[in-house]
Amino acid sequence: MRHRFVDEALAELIARLDHLYLWHPFTQMRDWLRREPLVIVRGSGAVLGDAQGRKYLDANSSIWTNLHGHNHPAINAALSRQLKKIAHSSALGLANEPASLLAEQLVKAANSPVGQASCLPHRAASRMPAPLGKVFFSDDGSTAIEVALKLAYAFALRAGRSAKPRFLSLQGAYHGDSLGAVALGHIDLFHKAYAGLLFKTDPVMAPYCYRCPFNAAAPERADAREYRKCRWECLDKLHRKFEVQRKKGNPYAAFVLEPLMQGAAGMIPQPSGWLRQAGEIARGHGALLIADEVMTGFGRTGSPVPSSGLPVLPASAAAAPSLFACHHEGVQPDFLALAKGLTGGYLPMAATLATQAVFEAFLGEYDEFKTFFHGHSFTGNQLGAAAALASLKLLQGAQSLRARRQLEQTLRQELRALWNLPNVGDIRQVGLVAGIELVKDWRTRQPFDLRQRAGIRVCEAMAKRGVLTRPVGDVIVLMPPYCTTPDQTRRMVAALAQGVRELQGA
Ligand code: PMP
Repeated sequence: MRHRFVDEALAELIARLDHLYLWHPFTQMRDWLRREPLVIVRGSGAVLGDAQGRKYLDANSSIWTNLHGHNHPAINAALSRQLKKIAHSSALGLANEPASLLAEQLVKAANSPVGQASCLPHRAASRMPAPLGKVFFSDDGSTAIEVALKLAYAFALRAGRSAKPRFLSLQGAYHGDSLGAVALGHIDLFHKAYAGLLFKTDPVMAPYCYRCPFNAAAPERADAREYRKCRWECLDKLHRKFEVQRKKGNPYAAFVLEPLMQGAAGMIPQPSGWLRQAGEIARGHGALLIADEVMTGFGRTGSPVPSSGLPVLPASAAAAPSLFACHHEGVQPDFLALAKGLTGGYLPMAATLATQAVFEAFLGEYDEFKTFFHGHSFTGNQLGAAAALASLKLLQGAQSLRARRQLEQTLRQELRALWNLPNVGDIRQVGLVAGIELVKDWRTRQPFDLRQRAGIRVCEAMAKRGVLTRPVGDVIVLMPPYCTTPDQTRRMVAALAQGVRELQGA
């Protein structure tokens, strides 16, 4: 018999109140109101529990946030310790203990020499730009990006680079839902409706090997990056974009990108070497680099994979790979935007790291009014920072490193079975993240009509088998918490395979 976590009457009340009063994000509420909501009341490790006592595997880490599992004793303990002292005091005019400690830890991790050196050619390593030295805290991924945008904008003006600073970002980019972040975004379905509210930014071709018009290779049963036939036309386009803008006399102030993998664009991974070269092109044109590691940060992208195709596995935990995707290809950004996993997925907290040079552009006498006039009520929140410190400690421990490597390997092994399914077009894994692109037929790469809701249907079928995730269009996302066991990983992939088979009624 299932053990109910809350009694039947309470479960019904929660569901009724939800239907009466809540408006859910990225959700067609007419569909939502047609069915009973799944009410989550518990979590432990990679497992979520609903009000009926049913258990589910959290296959997308609660929208890409959770790192070490739910209800983790070390993070719980850190939070209780902090709660006994204080939950929150303002960072406007006041300092606090966990925020100071966390800022130091983040700066250390963001300039990790081990991570940078682990897979770098010496040439690139020796040209590392200035380190990230300052941390501006905020609340979520969108605010972390807004902060980077505003700082980069003002810096470009103050440094005399441009009188009208302009930004470049990738096709399909998603950097959040506040208006600055939306302006950087290039997903028509989400962003077009608000065009009238936005400042203009330029999109540039993203390396989407599976659907790249320059990839001359016929479809194979392998990750499209591995068998692509091209001449890096995407990088030529990037180079040209910078050139054209330079000739207009207004060179780009900054290039904004998600390193190694674009998440909401559809889990689109960059072929090995793209990030390093793209970074060099941007730097060559004097643009600032804004790395959005809201999704990719904190170990999500696993061990670096060099062009040999074999993961770089350092011999010891002391030589652990960097926690940040940009370091995997030796890219040191001028801004690093972090959120989601920052607190281990416990609390809404974000950070924007910036260089000393940017910081100094805002220094002056009071009456020069160079101050960064920006801030949020919960900036530097003590509870968030305490959770983040505990999470970083876990991430840096040997146990977490072992678990991450195991999960990365198991995921790689298990996903192979999906190549047998004709509706699986591409399987793209970067570290501990995988996107499985569904198509009508892998031989033609023909997509489903979005109205057929193929991705949603597969995820619904997975939920019936006790595995929860959300699709990005017709790309199914697997991004399990790091504590996920090999058996749980197998169950996630098996449920996905079943869901895809059901698409055809097979
Ligand atoms: N950047 C990236 C890469 C993201 O994936 C997201 C959220 N999915 C954001 C920014 C926005 O983060 P938030 O939802 O916390 O505002």
